[in-house]
Amino acid sequence: MHTSHPMADNIGQLEREVAQLKRLLVEKEELLANLKVNSVSLPALIDASEQNLSKEDVVRFSRQIILPQVGVSGQVRLKKSSVLVVGAGGLGCPVLLYLVKAGIGRITVVDSDLVEISNLHRQTLHSDATIGLPKVDSACRFFALDQSYANVIPICERFTPENADRLVSEHDVIVDATDNVGSRYLLNDACVRHKKPLVSGSALGLEGQLTVYNGFVKKDGALVKGPCYRCLFPEPPPAASATSCSQSGVLGAVPGLIGLMQSIEVIKLIVDWPQNESVAGRMILLDANDLSLRTVRLRLANEKCPACSSNPQKNLPYYIEMCGEDVPVKALEDHERVTPDYVKAELDKLLLVDVRTEGEFGMCAIQGSVNFPFKDFEQILPEVKKAVLEAKQNSPSLQVCFVCRRGNDSQLAAVRFKEAYPEDKVVDMKGGLHAWAKVIDDQFPVY
Ligand SMILES: [Zn+2]
Repeated sequence: MHTSHPMADNIGQLEREVAQLKRLLVEKEELLANLKVNSVSLPALIDASEQNLSKEDVVRFSRQIILPQVGVSGQVRLKKSSVLVVGAGGLGCPVLLYLVKAGIGRITVVDSDLVEISNLHRQTLHSDATIGLPKVDSACRFFALDQSYANVIPICERFTPENADRLVSEHDVIVDATDNVGSRYLLNDACVRHKKPLVSGSALGLEGQLTVYNGFVKKDGALVKGPCYRCLFPEPPPAASATSCSQSGVLGAVPGLIGLMQSIEVIKLIVDWPQNESVAGRMILLDANDLSLRTVRLRLANEKCPACSSNPQKNLPYYIEMCGEDVPVKALEDHERVTPDYVKAELDKLLLVDVRTEGEFGMCAIQGSVNFPFKDFEQILPEVKKAVLEAKQNSPSLQVCFVCRRGNDSQLAAVRFKEAYPEDKVVDMKGGLHAWAKVIDDQFPVY
């Protein structure tokens, strides 16, 4: 029979005690962490300690200051705050309008585009009088009569990896009013690096959405990190799908409404009223068809997020070419592309296949062209082939030429058609109908 040595008994006893104490330590540490988290209020972005409202401020903003959710300290915070608005289009216009009027101390607006007539139905700060001007200058001109308090700084540049960090770090709250995926990744990653909330909106057709990325979410009375854009979508979509040049329709008031809601979120983040709950961690979905607003709860920050986790990935993938709209896809070889001059000269020897949407084709098209929208291309490929065969019955040497708005989708359509029917030689018109309008027909509508 084996009996243990008294020394061994002692060691065993001590080991048990140490293990017990270790468990106790873990429990106490968890308790302490919870207590710390629960005692945190929403992080104050702006210090309102110096109360420096002028008499005019008090009168001008009185209806807002009376709100308990804003108060004098909230108005002081607004006055001391700075907001970066990236994009001066359909979303940026209402955001700017309501942020300036609410008394934000400094607003920087970044956009490299010029005002075009086709912008005006939804981009409400611009007008016939400012067509051709940079959008940022047109927006500033709108606020010229509010000079006593409005402080809008125009930056006529694209938002790029070169200026992203500087611009984001110099502001308290960042607004994504670009409505393009490439900029959203750039903005997100810069906001994560500089710990800034990103108030993000988008709108298309009759639908829009809104959320705050990289913010804080209240959960069981405690504050936890909300998701960033990459927590939800770690990788950008393929560049080709993001540079599609088909133009989508949008009802002007839809980005208008989303932009207004973005401005509310910015103000809430700045005034820091304890009961203000930002939409971080939630996505608000607007459907103008039945004018409904739905809320979708997003997951919390992803522990494995390539951008905002404790171990972020270096050299995050994004495409600079996605940050501007006007970057052509290069899918065809140069000899497979023809110029508008060639199309004009050879018109009767070409079958022009216009791959824009039906609505766009209805607005304007080159005479004699046929419409097979790129968005349905996979399903309608056999129909395209049938149309080509029919046209070739009358004119066997006919060449097929794909056409679109700017010469991106036309290339992708040509590539897909070649893959399916390698026996047909196909080309596309370089620069699309924009180039056609510029070189051949100045009466052709550019939209
Ligand atoms: Zn993240």
